[in-house]
Amino acid sequence: YESAGAPDYYNVDDLLTDEHKLIRQTMRNFVKREISPYIEQWAQDVHFPSEIVKKFGDIGAFGPTIPTEYGGGGLDYISYGLIMQEIERGDSGMRSTASVQGSLVMYPIHQYGSEEQRRKYLPKLASGEWLGCFGLTEPDHGSNPGGMVTNFKDMGDHYLLNGSKMWISNSPECQVAVVWAKNEEGRIKGLIVERGTEGFSTPEIHNKWSLRASCTGELVFDNVKVPKENLLPYADGLKGPLSCLDSARYGIAWGAIGVAVDCYESARKYALQRHQFGKSIASFQLVQKKLAEMLTEITKAQLLAWRLGTLKNEGKASTQQISMAKRNNVDMALHVAREARQIHGGMGITGEYPIMRHMMNLESVITYEGTHDIHLLITGNDITGIQAFK
Ligand code: FAD
Repeated sequence: YESAGAPDYYNVDDLLTDEHKLIRQTMRNFVKREISPYIEQWAQDVHFPSEIVKKFGDIGAFGPTIPTEYGGGGLDYISYGLIMQEIERGDSGMRSTASVQGSLVMYPIHQYGSEEQRRKYLPKLASGEWLGCFGLTEPDHGSNPGGMVTNFKDMGDHYLLNGSKMWISNSPECQVAVVWAKNEEGRIKGLIVERGTEGFSTPEIHNKWSLRASCTGELVFDNVKVPKENLLPYADGLKGPLSCLDSARYGIAWGAIGVAVDCYESARKYALQRHQFGKSIASFQLVQKKLAEMLTEITKAQLLAWRLGTLKNEGKASTQQISMAKRNNVDMALHVAREARQIHGGMGITGEYPIMRHMMNLESVITYEGTHDIHLLITGNDITGIQAFK
């Protein structure tokens, strides 16, 4: 039962290759060594451990599916999912750092960038020498990114970028930002903006009760001169950033399983050890109901993620299928965290156990990369052909 895949109630491990299991175990060991012993304190102190960036690079957590010639891992999507699962078992904020770098910075540069851009940026991002961020959301445009007002003008030998982005993971520590902005015709394009460019600043957002070990900030562009070679040549329209989000959301669908499993395992152990009324609380039917339902939901989420991974590998996973998995698995993890919190009683609110940190983290995860309700409306649109969110 304590095997590497645990809990694995439906033998999902039989569907994995030996390489998948090795990658998972390697990441599990990394998280146990480099994240778990410190994460509670980092979160309590609102500290982003910037040294983790290089360590993530060394272990191959950045851009696992990017081809090896650009410094990526050249792995399949199940491997990518397992890596996200293991990092998020440690902490959703740490997973955010990794998935932004891989899916929201490296992915668009690889997918929509020129060969020169790929060669210039991808190896540095893969190794963790540079940290990147992804600027789509604005103060007045969150669920509706198409309404963005950040814009750039063609000035002949450069572009002039103005506007601001809000809620940007990694921004205070980034060396490079992939920024989505409108050109003079109102078309959404991607620009690579490097730290140090005049007029570009990244103020930090303070007072978060969630993802406290991940740094979040704004991106402010005040007449920023962006070199022309920094435009992503092959991205045109909202589908550019949305395709990046597909990739990141896929990773979140796996990551959420990691959190749920961490909460479930902690609750199971606690229930067996904790005694009330002369017996272990695990012997009470209501506690067993909680544990049984947690395991059932985790098992369903594992099957959903695995199947989505095989579809991704075949290039067949639709945006709508990814929406469903992100929404279901994050919601599942939040329910599991809340039930686990109850099983831990008063101890569940302390940093002695990971539960409360995971639960607060998930309040961001259920909102970013498309809110819980927006993903539901994406499914509703798919079912009926009617867009309810516009
Ligand atoms: P709003 O869009 O204002 O939504 C508020 C509420 O209204 C939600 O419940 C929503 O579901 C509901 N709502 C909105 N429209 C509709 C509708 N049509 N029908 C029904 N309900 C609706 N963004 C980035 O670009 N890059 C990042 O790296 C990044 N990192 C983030 C990190 C954190 C910690 C957080 C909290 C956010 C991050 N985001 C990032 C932004 C995130 O993607 C947005 O917060 C999210 O898209 C929601 O936008 P909003 O917060 O403006 O909420």
